[in-house]
Amino acid sequence: VQRSDVLLRPWTGPFGGVPPFDQVEVSALEPAVHAAVGLARQELRAITAQTAPPDLDNTIEAYERAGRALQRVLAVYRVWTTTLATPEVQEVERRVEPVLAAWADEVVANADLFARIDAVAQQTERAAWSPESRRLVQQIHRHFVRHGARLSPTSKARLAEINQRLASCFTAFNQNLLADEETCVLLERPEDLRGLPAGLVAVLAEAATERGLSGAWAVVNTRSVVEPFLVCSTRRDLRERVWRAFVGRGARGGPTDNHALIAEILALRFERARLLGHPTHAHWRLEDSMAGTPERALALMEAVWGPAVMRVRQDVAEQRAEAGGEPVAPWDFRHLQERVRKRLHDLDEEVIKPYLQLDRLREGMFWMARRLYGLVFEPAPEVPVYHPDVQVWSVQTVGGRPVGLWYFDPYARPGKHSGAWMSAYREQEAGLEEVLTLVSNNCNFSRGAEGAPCLLSWNDARTLFHEFGHGLHGLLSQVRYGYLSGTQVARDYVEFPSQIHERWLQSPELLERFARHARTDEPMPGELLGRLLRATTFGQGFGTTEYLASALVDMRLHLADPPPADPAAFEVRALAEIGMPSEVVMRHRTPQFAHLFASDAYSAGYYSYLWADVLTADAFEAFVEAGSMFDQGTAQRLVTHVLSVGDTCDPAEGFRAFRGRDVEIGALMRDRGFVGAARGAREVSSD
Ligand SMILES: [Zn+2]
Repeated sequence: VQRSDVLLRPWTGPFGGVPPFDQVEVSALEPAVHAAVGLARQELRAITAQTAPPDLDNTIEAYERAGRALQRVLAVYRVWTTTLATPEVQEVERRVEPVLAAWADEVVANADLFARIDAVAQQTERAAWSPESRRLVQQIHRHFVRHGARLSPTSKARLAEINQRLASCFTAFNQNLLADEETCVLLERPEDLRGLPAGLVAVLAEAATERGLSGAWAVVNTRSVVEPFLVCSTRRDLRERVWRAFVGRGARGGPTDNHALIAEILALRFERARLLGHPTHAHWRLEDSMAGTPERALALMEAVWGPAVMRVRQDVAEQRAEAGGEPVAPWDFRHLQERVRKRLHDLDEEVIKPYLQLDRLREGMFWMARRLYGLVFEPAPEVPVYHPDVQVWSVQTVGGRPVGLWYFDPYARPGKHSGAWMSAYREQEAGLEEVLTLVSNNCNFSRGAEGAPCLLSWNDARTLFHEFGHGLHGLLSQVRYGYLSGTQVARDYVEFPSQIHERWLQSPELLERFARHARTDEPMPGELLGRLLRATTFGQGFGTTEYLASALVDMRLHLADPPPADPAAFEVRALAEIGMPSEVVMRHRTPQFAHLFASDAYSAGYYSYLWADVLTADAFEAFVEAGSMFDQGTAQRLVTHVLSVGDTCDPAEGFRAFRGRDVEIGALMRDRGFVGAARGAREVSSD
């Protein structure tokens, strides 16, 4: 038996089959991809070889059903490239990514296939299809057109070259970033640890030991370590060193420097957009978004930018006073912000943290999902996993209807990409047969010291709920076609279901039950909880500014004509033009901006978080207006019109059906404490 067969075969086991994570050999990944592409090619050939005239079933639905073996192989392959990226896996990735890009282009360039799809799309007016089938035809047809199906053979060939080269650039960008994130700032003397809490010191000690440097402390160059260090360390010199290493990721010169790659990516994207008939990459990307055009996305960003910067200036003034009149440097900002927060709100991250145990909050999320949506989570230890850190839960309704599986991979480790994300190993569908979804949440929390529970910061806890929101969006899907299922919605809409679930972390009912002290099991004292909830708009100026600066630079990079040849200089100029406060740095500087350059996914799309947050804030007020965060009628409407429908309807219509009107921006401004600044912004987000 060939080792790649196990990856190609239909999955077996419970829940309609599960990925055979316990039988994967890295050497089998690449042959499995090649074999699966071959199978998919045969399936498409069967569609185009038909003599029967094209119709919904024999063309569109047949196309939708094709390529399942490739989907299975890729589900496993992507787990290895994103969470188990050893040098061997990275080598495989460098070879496989261009193959996948070439395959995607081969499909779109298949003239016989597109002729049939186009013929079915022409039938739309007179066909008696269901609304979901209608949407499927429209979305598949649109995908082909947007990706070049109508181009001449010469242009298609150039497009394929561009896409394959981009795939290699993305992989190289990502691997450079991963390499820089595995470097560290080494601390060798106890006085270097000044201000750091014991939990963080333990994490740094363990990281040093892992690197064979016992007796020292390693500040690994990733967000989950760097941010708490910058908050806590009272050593200004070390804060500066750690900060410089972190914002310098991908910009260190030498073999891991990303600048040349970025210039090449921007040039290739620009050329591709022109081939596809759009003025710039941003125009092409936003065509199938909820915003629709770069201008509408920019208008929203600009409406929020001014008030956010104004708030940062107030924060800086407060911080200067806190620092005895010293100027505030970007490596001081988080530290001084925390000191001001302690003084103004009497809130100390280190006092809150022991109440935020990962295991308990996870139970809190399950409790939330049961109260809101009637979902029940139960451990499923029999399901195979790819790493001992990963745990799996089965999900069913209170009525006993099986829903799917939830995989959880919580901790940082070498070879795992930074950040947090959700993915679906298999999408829900209810076509020929009922298919249950398998979703996973991935985070990069620092594991607790040996035997101690993993404690989260308030921000980490929000990330936990955010990713679980994506997970619920996948789990609650109730659609016919996998192509339209779960989270496969417009990029600027997909963060709405995730962001709204962050709100339940602030539910006093949930916190009373699940925010319990790691040592004493006491619930968080009511007055601490009160202070915590009152301080939620604290720091929003900084958070919004570091985020929006990144989003604005993203949009400018992808609107530039011609595309910038020197991205470093472009970043400097763009920040000067928008009036970036010197005390704050972009959340993701260009050379480390994986959202933009590790794939096309969030390119000209980083604004999506803000766009979706306008929806989030407005939607959450529906619960407030109903008088309870757990109002059953409102939760049910959210499921009916948002969480269950995937991409089967236009997102603006889904939102309107849920809210009873179009979205309004006021709730977002109130939420971030920017009240009174929303003038003129309403219309940009009102459809
Ligand atoms: Zn998200």
